Amino acid sequence: MARILVTGGTGYIGSHTTVELMQAGFDVVIVDNLMNSNVGVLDGIEAIVGRRPDYENIDCVDYVALDKLFEKYADIEGIIHFAAYKAVGESVEKPLQYYRNNINSLVNLLELMPIHKVKNIVFSSSCTVYGQPDAAHLPVNENAPIQPALSPYGNTKQICEEIIHDTIHATPNINAIILRYFNPIGAHPTALIGELPNGVPNNLLPYVTQTAAGIRPELRIFGNDYDTPDGTCIRDYIDVVDLAKAHVVALKRMLTNKQEGNEEIFNLGTGRGLSVMEIVETFKRVNNVDVPYKIVERREGDIEKVWADPTRANKVLGWKAERNTEDTLRSCWKWQLRLNEAK
Ligand code: UDP
Repeated sequence: MARILVTGGTGYIGSHTTVELMQAGFDVVIVDNLMNSNVGVLDGIEAIVGRRPDYENIDCVDYVALDKLFEKYADIEGIIHFAAYKAVGESVEKPLQYYRNNINSLVNLLELMPIHKVKNIVFSSSCTVYGQPDAAHLPVNENAPIQPALSPYGNTKQICEEIIHDTIHATPNINAIILRYFNPIGAHPTALIGELPNGVPNNLLPYVTQTAAGIRPELRIFGNDYDTPDGTCIRDYIDVVDLAKAHVVALKRMLTNKQEGNEEIFNLGTGRGLSVMEIVETFKRVNNVDVPYKIVERREGDIEKVWADPTRANKVLGWKAERNTEDTLRSCWKWQLRLNEAK
């Protein structure tokens, strides 16, 4: 089976994708500098799969180190590029760090691909590129207009998509699939891997589970005066294992030359929008735990409502989000309990 390079493979989505790749028979080499993850994740992956992925502590901004990596693992046939900074607020404070890291990493990989005869790359993008779609574009499909980015983080995703587009135009033997994720949540059903937020979580689910666990006194719900049925924001929450599986399908599609043209873009979501309040209430009910919360001011830069039209991924990739929200929210809690035990 082919060997795949997974950058950011010890991170949240990267680790779940590594598991799915290895279970599908691929060999994986992970490149990660552990800036937002830890090496113990490799033990979790090994415990699930029964095999350990190769691992190299490399920063993807380091062209020379990456060049050597491709020499060492001469059988790499595809890349899944997750490694990136992803905190919206931090990107506003430190824009240059975000531009340097997120853009240079991708440029290095794209430059090295033809040199080392690697043809296929999957890129992690985000529904943030759509901004707030107007009513006519909800649910949002891949043809909806790209809106000006609201943060340097969002801008790096747009710029990286453009870099891929221009590179493929000039280098026709590179294939790319751009995956635009909606809101990934949940953990592996074994609770051996999951999300490891660094410090105070920014994202909703880690905050909910930490509040339920008593680590945070209460959840703050950012605004209940939006134009939505219960006034709280709506998102498309997709299970991280479903999301991981889409990467395997995308890679296989490229490796077996099934692509239409050499650049494709897919939305990865469930097609269903849920409000913050629905998530919190469902989490409480299925796990039988309390989550104290209070409604506070809106968070700056939040989008009111966005959810995916995943028809293209469903039809062309033959992939569909399968896990129901209740099970996903149970997996979030199971993972939090495991983290509590490990303390
Ligand atoms: N949210 C919240 N309290 C929190 C974190 C998030 O009410 O502590 C809300 C946020 O306003 C948004 C939704 O939960 O409506 C999802 O936020 P998250 O940061 O997880 O993802 P985003 O869609 O902003 O990337």
